[in-house]
Amino acid sequence: MKLIRFGNIENEKPGVLLDNGQKIDVSDFGSDYDEKFFGADGPKKLKEWLYHHQEECPKINDNLRLGPPICRPSKIVCVGLNYAKHAQESGMEVPSEPVLFFKASSAIIGPYDEVILPKNSKKSDWEVELAIVIGAKASYVSEDNAMNHVAGYLLHNDISEREYQLERSGQWVKGKSCDTFAPLGPFLVTKDEIKDPHNLDLWLRLNGETMQDSNTSDLIFGIPKLVSYISEFMTLLPGDVISTGTPFGVGLGLDPQMYLKDGDEMELGIQGLGIARQKVRS
Ligand code: ZN
Repeated sequence: MKLIRFGNIENEKPGVLLDNGQKIDVSDFGSDYDEKFFGADGPKKLKEWLYHHQEECPKINDNLRLGPPICRPSKIVCVGLNYAKHAQESGMEVPSEPVLFFKASSAIIGPYDEVILPKNSKKSDWEVELAIVIGAKASYVSEDNAMNHVAGYLLHNDISEREYQLERSGQWVKGKSCDTFAPLGPFLVTKDEIKDPHNLDLWLRLNGETMQDSNTSDLIFGIPKLVSYISEFMTLLPGDVISTGTPFGVGLGLDPQMYLKDGDEMELGIQGLGIARQKVRS
């Protein structure tokens, strides 16, 4: 099942993208895609509900805005340097344990919303990533049991201001959390629909030119390891997002380096998880 949210910013309603491409409004199910929904086995219950009610659901007009496919989560946990070639291009060692950092959940926007460069930003950069959404609360979860805590997957552009992240001292969070720096979607795909999340092509084009082109089989730490590892340090709540890291091909790694500017357009996708497009504005 593919979950979407649609409508105006901060007023999105829950919907479902059907296999025939039609989008339907499932507001009558009675729950948005939030912590409570995921924690109460919401995707499964929604699927059952649709079995009886799909025909009654209003169709969504194709020109309505798509918002992020989930409500604002309690946290976004990001994994840094999780592809070997990206660690190299960033001038950093391949890590022996997952590198974790936070991204403010206030940075979340829809998949086709504009990305606004922060005031005086000179080094804003793109990062296509596979993100996972937690289904069941996870604390000290074993790797063997980790996938039982995953609800599904979505596409994430982990936009990063490199000067704030790397040159302004302190933690990476400063370069990762600016408003609009976390476009999510177009949809959340439930776990059952993705056979192998560790074999998905992912790519990003900037103004039509391919910048990133890789596969999640190159992840250093896979999803079970990440869920288990992170759950040692904090409780993952239903609806929380883990972003698994970006592959080679970011602006920081180019020679000369290249960063986002007003008018640029990013197009990114992951096999089975759809395509997103964001215009950049200063
Ligand atoms: Zn990232």
